[in-house]
Amino acid sequence: MTVTAKSRFSAADAEHLYHLPAWGKDYFHIKGGKLCVQLPGTAPVALEDILADLSAKGRSLPLILRFPQIIEDRLDKLNGAFAKAIDESGYIGTYQGVYPVKVNQRRVVVETIAEYGAKYRTGLEAGSKAELALILVQDVHPDALICCNGFKDDDFIRLALWGRRLGKNVVVTLEKYSELDRVLRVAKEMGVRPAIGVRFKLHAKGSGKWESSGGDDAKFGLTASELINAAEQLKNLGLADALELLHCHVGSQLTDIRNIKVATREAARAYAELHKLGVGVKYLDLGGGLAVDYDGSKTTFYVSANYGLQEYADTLVWTVLEACEQADAPHPTIVTESGRALTAHHAVFCLDVIDATGPTRSRLELPKPSDPSAEHDLIRDLRELLGNVTVKTYQEVFNEAASIKATMHSLFELGYLGLLERAHIETLHNEILGRVAAVVKGLEYIPDEFTALPRSLADKYVGNFSLFQALPDHWAIGALFPIMPLHRLDEPPTRDATLVDISCDSDGKIETFIDLRDVGKTLKVHELTGEPYHLGVFLAGAYQDVLANAHNLFGRVNEAHIRLTEDGYTVELFVNGQKAQRVIENMGYEAPQLRTWLEEVISEADANLSKAEREALLRLYDAELVGYTYLEALRTVPG
Ligand code: PLP
Repeated sequence: MTVTAKSRFSAADAEHLYHLPAWGKDYFHIKGGKLCVQLPGTAPVALEDILADLSAKGRSLPLILRFPQIIEDRLDKLNGAFAKAIDESGYIGTYQGVYPVKVNQRRVVVETIAEYGAKYRTGLEAGSKAELALILVQDVHPDALICCNGFKDDDFIRLALWGRRLGKNVVVTLEKYSELDRVLRVAKEMGVRPAIGVRFKLHAKGSGKWESSGGDDAKFGLTASELINAAEQLKNLGLADALELLHCHVGSQLTDIRNIKVATREAARAYAELHKLGVGVKYLDLGGGLAVDYDGSKTTFYVSANYGLQEYADTLVWTVLEACEQADAPHPTIVTESGRALTAHHAVFCLDVIDATGPTRSRLELPKPSDPSAEHDLIRDLRELLGNVTVKTYQEVFNEAASIKATMHSLFELGYLGLLERAHIETLHNEILGRVAAVVKGLEYIPDEFTALPRSLADKYVGNFSLFQALPDHWAIGALFPIMPLHRLDEPPTRDATLVDISCDSDGKIETFIDLRDVGKTLKVHELTGEPYHLGVFLAGAYQDVLANAHNLFGRVNEAHIRLTEDGYTVELFVNGQKAQRVIENMGYEAPQLRTWLEEVISEADANLSKAEREALLRLYDAELVGYTYLEALRTVPG
């Protein structure tokens, strides 16, 4: 989009440019040129001011700002939507959410959901023994469901049944038919009556990136015949009422409400059929999938959704209601396992831009030829083309310039052209592309071959972060997150840039950005001035923390947990990012051993190093081991 031509760039201009109202209006707005966070009853707080306060205390970027109150607000919104749907439809059951901790197991996230969600009887879902271990000790409401999904061994089941002994509402969900015998055997050994859930393999599928989580070929779930057999087996054992929950999940980030409706209908039919078989299932667990509108386009695009929270709740409640009425089955407690929708909004990844490169940035001065009349023909031709870029000629100029550049490469390889001529040709070629891009931008129809031009001419802003640690889903599945500057939002951003990280992996870059119509190829940013320049990556609280990896040994980043108040904010907790030593040790090394090895290497090279040099090296090495893994321009090493 084009920036409104105004002498002053307003907050509304900036919000419009970064589509902020579309993805963040509940929590974020711009004030005084800064991106602010605000919740009902709290004062607006500029993220940039929080970063400045943290920086004054020596807390450096990159860091994650977490706002647990946003998770609380998401819980209110989700439960409020279901309460409204239930009230308006006359549904006779209730709603209970279950948070799948795999989405983000960070302590602050799980504890906030368990404790604040207790008033809604919000439960937790474990997909492994380790997750169950952390869930069992959470302070949830006694009626809150603790769902055990995923493949299970005896110990997983034992731990779950111990949970029941402790008075917790733990349900062991069968992912495959053969798990039934295992659960029954362990339950018998322990003398505990199990509460069993069954995942039903729906024919229905979602849409988008996680489409294959549902449908006949899905990895998990019992088929119709397996479901009948499981029900009969439990009935024969006098355990019909132990089958408490019917579960399904057709994928995360379900973008189309029509698919959700179809899947809900199928699940509700299966629930009603189980009742006909004499199995009194109480809970109908419709899984996760409630999408987050990352780009704010409100479409079925893979990073969006064509529905909102209320429509989601209405669809589930009304669809289950209709299926139950039709089959004369009691209304079950509706359960959803929403993870993304609860957690995405609460975390903002903040990074500083430390450098910029790019074909149209101020160039280095090239030496002038000693005899201008001896200028190479190719250079002269390009100079001529440069002065001749118009709406009528841009295509021809573009083609001709490309052909001259190709000729230059051939001549260079064959030794007929020197480095200086090559440099002049590259520089002129870039200038021509810049002028062509300016012409193309004003056209109503942009021919295909020019659509890549903005990206190839864009700056590369170097961010002090690792994509693999911060936004693994962008790298792995092309997920898009809203990204924007946190300050200077009262100045028009004049540069178009892509982002590159400091890892040495060429995949460590962001070249796709949210856009309401398509995918943005560049991000509007401000020219660097030598002062810190901070970008925020929003909606980063779901899955990213968990999937992060230590590529290049960049470790977990610092994080600050912020509580917003009536008149400002407090930092509830600051969690230090991983030290280099920690990430190195995760790879099987031991820091003291490394130190000893270094001393050995030094003594072998003894002849070349003075005592002072040896000590300086050891001091630097020690400081690095306990240092942050990211670039710390201001850190000084003694000696
Ligand atoms: N439940 C199950 C069984 C899942 O596999 C997942 C994730 O894919 C979820 C819930 C959470 O889904 P979402 O984060 O889309 O709500």
